[in-house]
Amino acid sequence: MKPTELLSIIIPFHNEQEVIKECQQRISEAVKTIDMQVEMLYVNDGSKDKTLAILIELMQQDERIKIIDLSRNFGKEIAMTAGLDEAKGDAVVVIDADLQDPPELIVEMIKAWHEGFDVVYAKRIERKGENFFKKFTAHLFYKLINKISDHEIPENVGDFRLMSRQAVDALNQVRERKRFMKGLFSWIGFPQTAIEYSRDPRLAGETNWNYKELIKFAIEGISSFTQEPLRLATYAGFITALGAFGLGLFYIIKTLLFGEAIQGFPTLITVILFFSGVQLLSIGILGEYIGHMFIESKQRPLYFIKKTYTVKLDD
Ligand code: UDP
Ligand code: MG
Repeated sequence: MKPTELLSIIIPFHNEQEVIKECQQRISEAVKTIDMQVEMLYVNDGSKDKTLAILIELMQQDERIKIIDLSRNFGKEIAMTAGLDEAKGDAVVVIDADLQDPPELIVEMIKAWHEGFDVVYAKRIERKGENFFKKFTAHLFYKLINKISDHEIPENVGDFRLMSRQAVDALNQVRERKRFMKGLFSWIGFPQTAIEYSRDPRLAGETNWNYKELIKFAIEGISSFTQEPLRLATYAGFITALGAFGLGLFYIIKTLLFGEAIQGFPTLITVILFFSGVQLLSIGILGEYIGHMFIESKQRPLYFIKKTYTVKLDD
């Protein structure tokens, strides 16, 4: 008897020509034992190499594959969203192309899903092949965002996860242009659980990330999930004003008592520069939030699909 439940596997691809074939092999192998129908949604996120050609070649050998070719590079978050929009599965898995996350975990994820969890995410217990500094900065980032945000964003969790139909439908209703997925996954709620594993180094090719990207990612994450920095600017303003008042009072009294003319150009310039810095920082923080409003208010579509490829006739 044919299984009735459908599992969708979404993979975003951006210049991944070296890893596609191995990726497909590992995924096919991993889902063999699963008693579900499978659809594979491969999103080509504006790759400049042979990614699309290789994907089409694979699709001709495996009718479970459907390719969504985006009109340009939109970034991983949007590419995943395009996949989630198209996915028809009762359960949907999102996984990276570079096999840093073992597809073999999908079996366990499905078990947890059958137990009633709507979101099953994979939690890394160690990161092979990543340097100390990256690990350390990542740790700091999670400490910070969890301290100031209302929604717990679990540390050492990537985007690799399984979601129930209900969770996917919920997530698909969130049409923010700036998509901090880790935050959104947590924001939608529903029963969630983790499966632990150790993360492998990238199979081949280069990570698409660099530190500039990471900093941008951190700022976006924080500014789309909490207003705390705005409040911080207010507090800082309040405290410095109070301090300045106290200092003023101190000088008045000092002059009255000792009649001493106030010198101190160095103090003056330091204080002026310091507060100019604070002001610029606060304006910058404001700018971050206004930027968000600007992007969201334009109401642009999240992405455009150039073409979808499938060997099956759509019914
Ligand atoms: N990716 C994408 N669009 C991009 C950048 C990356 O679709 O603009 C995909 C990439 O092909 C891979 C996944 O997102 O499948 C994760 O990318 P990467 O391994 O570079 O990120 P990291 O593992 O370092 O977070
Ligand atoms: Mg990776």
